[in-house]
Amino acid sequence: MSESNKGWTRRALLAGGGAVGVAGTVAACKYGSQLFLLRDAPEHEGPIPGDWKESRVQAYRSFGNSGFKMSDISFGTSGLNDPAVVRRAIERGINYFDTSPDYSDTASERSLGEAIRDFKRDELFIASKFCSPSGHLDKDTPTDEIVRSVEDSLQRIGTDYLDVALIHAVNDVDRLMAPTFHEASDRLKKDGKVRFLGVSSHTPDLEKVMRTAVDSGRFDMIMVAYNFHNWPQLPEIFADAHQRGMGVVAMKTLKGAYHTQLSDFTPSERQSFPQAAFKWVLSNQNMSGLVVTMNRLDQIDEYLHASGQPLTDEDVALLERYDQQIASHYCRPGCGECLDSCPNDVPIDDILRYQMYARSYGQEKIAMSDYARVPAEHNASQCASCPAPCEAACPYDLPIRQRLTQAHRDLRLVG
Ligand code: SF4
Ligand code: SF4
Repeated sequence: MSESNKGWTRRALLAGGGAVGVAGTVAACKYGSQLFLLRDAPEHEGPIPGDWKESRVQAYRSFGNSGFKMSDISFGTSGLNDPAVVRRAIERGINYFDTSPDYSDTASERSLGEAIRDFKRDELFIASKFCSPSGHLDKDTPTDEIVRSVEDSLQRIGTDYLDVALIHAVNDVDRLMAPTFHEASDRLKKDGKVRFLGVSSHTPDLEKVMRTAVDSGRFDMIMVAYNFHNWPQLPEIFADAHQRGMGVVAMKTLKGAYHTQLSDFTPSERQSFPQAAFKWVLSNQNMSGLVVTMNRLDQIDEYLHASGQPLTDEDVALLERYDQQIASHYCRPGCGECLDSCPNDVPIDDILRYQMYARSYGQEKIAMSDYARVPAEHNASQCASCPAPCEAACPYDLPIRQRLTQAHRDLRLVG
C-alpha cells in the first residue's frame, strides 16, 4: 500500500522532532521464544577474535565513473556521537561516510566534521541528505529551504562541499522527481556545494523508485536496502546503474541484524553472520560498496574483517540458516500486505522497523523518537484489545499483535 492511500501519511510522521524520555519495559523472559529475546543486542559474547584485531580495508571499488575508489565496507553514521570512531575508521582505510542532519540530532554531522579536520578532505567522500535536523524534507519543500538545509550541513561538518546529497528515504516517484529537489541540486552543483545527486530508499516501492531513478538520468548514485534473498529486481537495476556510470551503495545489509538474538545460533555463527552478509552483498560486482552503522571502535575490527573477502559456500549456508530462523518473525521490507486490514491505520511495518532499530542495533533513542511521531490514535496502544485482523492478512504469519504490543512497551515515552 502506498503512503498516499492512508488517512495520514508516514511522511507526515517524519516531519517534526520528538523528545526522548525514559527507556521502556524490559523484555520479561530471556528464552521465552526463539527470537527477540534480549532487550539489548549484545556487543559480543566473548573476546573479539584475534584475527579481527587491526582489520583494515582490503578492497576499493569504483564509485561509478566519478574517479573515486570507495572502501568496499564503509561507514554509516546513524547514532554517531564520537569523533574517535571516525578517526579510527579513516586510519583503517575507510574513505566513504554517510551521514544526515537528523542522525543523533545533528551530532552525527558534527562528530564527523570534527574527525575529518585531521585528514585530507579530498581523500574522503562525504554523503549527506536533503533533511532537516527533525526529519526528511517533504516533496513540497521550497527550493531555497532545501538549499539552506545543505548549507547548514556544510557548516556543521565544516566543509565547503558534499560529495553526495541524497533525496533520502524515498517511498514514491512523486517525491523522487519533485522539481524543487532537482532545482536545489542543480543550484548546489553549480555553486560547487554538492558534487553528485543521489537517492536512497528502503520501503516499500523500492524497486520502482530505483528503476525510475536510474532511467531518469538525473541521479549520479543510488543507495539501496539490499540483503540476502530480498528484492529480486535489484541486481538488474544495479547492472543498469553501473553501466550508466552511477555509484551503487548498499545499506541494511544485515537483514534486521537479529543474529545476536537467535538462541539457536552458536556464538561462532553470531560472529560470522555479519561478515557472511557483507560478502554476499559485495559478491555483486556492480556494487560500489556498502555502508553499515558503526558507532563503536570494536565494530571497525569486526566489520572490516570481511573487506575484500570472497563469498564461500559456508557463508551462503549460514545466510540460509539465518533466513529459516527469522522466517516467522521478520517483517519483509516493502511488503505492506497487512496495512489495509488495520481498522486503526497502525503503521505496522514502520513500528516493527523501529523496534528492530532498538533491539538489533541498540538505537533505542532513535527508535523511541521515531515512535513518538506516530499519532496516539494510530500507535500500537490500539493492539492489546484488538482481534488482530492484520494477522490473517500477513502471508508470513507474523504474530503482529504480540510484536506490536511489545514494541509499544519498549518504545513509548514514559513520564
Ligand atoms: S492488532 Fe494492532 S495492527 Fe493489528 S489490526 Fe489490530 S490495531 Fe491494527
Ligand atoms: S507484518 Fe507481515 S504483512 Fe505486514 S508488512 Fe510485515 S511481513 Fe508484510
